Amino acid sequence: MVQQGEALQVINNEESARIFRGWAKMKQETREMAFALTNGYCGCCKECVEQADQVHHLLPNTDVNRKLFPLFTDSIFNLCGIFSGCHLNKPIPTIRPEQAKIYEEWLQKNTKGAAK
Ligand SMILES: [Zn+2]
Repeated sequence: MVQQGEALQVINNEESARIFRGWAKMKQETREMAFALTNGYCGCCKECVEQADQVHHLLPNTDVNRKLFPLFTDSIFNLCGIFSGCHLNKPIPTIRPEQAKIYEEWLQKNTKGAAK
């Protein structure tokens, strides 16, 4: 049985690798569009006036989610510019898998996979 501390370590390593892959793979154009969604400000909440310096995935950018929602996960519909301090320390916007499924179906029907 995995101890709680060990499980946390696994999650942290996996998460770091995932974030690195995300940053390496995301197109500059997509990143700029995510910042434009909130006029360059952090999208954590309506009151925040920090400058966005990272792109946040509303539905987490996990391997499982990438398999389930291949077009949606890195699409502009799942992204939001955010300040790194808020990304780590504040409740941030999310999306439910049920919503992601609807967006994925729309993207599959309307983009012929061009976004991938
Ligand atoms: Zn913020």
